Amino acid sequence: MIKDLDPSTVVVHAGRPERVPNAPLGESPVFSSTYIAGGDRGYGRFGNDAWAAFEQTLGELEGGRGLAFASGMAAAAAICDLVPVGGRVVAPRHAYNGVLGLLDQQTSTGRLHVQRVDIADTAEVSDAVTGADLLWIESPTNPAMEVADLPAVCAAGRAAGATVVVDNTFATPLLQQPLACGADAVMHSATKFIAGHSDVVLGAVVTANDNLWAALESRRRGLGAIPGPMEAWLGLRGLRTLALRLDRAQSNAALLAERLLAHPRVSRVRYPGLADDPGHARAAAQMSGFGAILAIELGGDAEGAQRVCESTTLWVHATSLGGVESMLERRRRWPIEVPTIPADLIRLSVGIEHPDDLWTDLEQALKA
Ligand SMILES: *Cc1c(COP(=O)(O)O)cnc(C)c1O
Repeated sequence: MIKDLDPSTVVVHAGRPERVPNAPLGESPVFSSTYIAGGDRGYGRFGNDAWAAFEQTLGELEGGRGLAFASGMAAAAAICDLVPVGGRVVAPRHAYNGVLGLLDQQTSTGRLHVQRVDIADTAEVSDAVTGADLLWIESPTNPAMEVADLPAVCAAGRAAGATVVVDNTFATPLLQQPLACGADAVMHSATKFIAGHSDVVLGAVVTANDNLWAALESRRRGLGAIPGPMEAWLGLRGLRTLALRLDRAQSNAALLAERLLAHPRVSRVRYPGLADDPGHARAAAQMSGFGAILAIELGGDAEGAQRVCESTTLWVHATSLGGVESMLERRRRWPIEVPTIPADLIRLSVGIEHPDDLWTDLEQALKA
């Protein structure tokens, strides 16, 4: 790729075939479970042109080499699989509940030990990481919207000899680049903003460490946690418009955050873009935008918040996030959600619709 291009240009042009006569503009998914012997590809579980194009593009954006996985959880599980038996993992008290659940499950079987920390509390993280094998970071966290001091906690983790991994799903590589902040690897649920259209489940890891990349690639083969060719192709097709989608979604989110803050039924708005948010200064320093996810609390009971989620007509009441469609859900409706997440907290994933339409629908739902 030509150097010094803006990331919004790289996201469009990376991972394309060489420009020679008759070449297609983009790679196609290859639907073959095996390849003619004699080359390096071998078998469908080892490689696919659509994965390679997706990995190349994401790798250029994050500043490392990419690896596509069947889902964000498959990527997270492959990383956890690198922790030695009986090893120690430091993880946020609030983070994506699937990852926390996986760590708890592996702790209960004695496979590893997890220690939960407030990831926004740098001193607590630095203390806990002594002797740890893996420091798992998420920032901003899902759905509490806490912001870690990435350069500081990455440095603490590496100084302690831990492998430092950042779940960058909420920020995407266009808003935050954890490898440049000192992380060893970045993990994505590409299901969310990267694919962007709520039509595919896909994950990825990016690292600039060749040994770590090789270990993870070997885990992907061994665990069989591979994406289908069509999924990787859809992920890359979605990624091409990420810069445009994010621009619109995060300007919508900023506007809605301000309006929600002024709404009498809303007791708290969690969005790092708000000047009074506890994560604002950090996010402003380490991110190039505040993203399109926010959370609100209504200061009432779970039933009231649940009713709001069930009263929208435009906003989709569904789990997941990062699609072009605005979505909302009360996270504690899931029994596996962390109990310190308030029962009345509603996570909003702001899409690319017109902000006035989004506000009108939210306002009528808040009256419910
Ligand atoms: C959704 C999500 C995951 C899990 O990814 P899947 O693609 O659903 O397996 C991990 N981390 C975060 C922050 C997520 O939002």
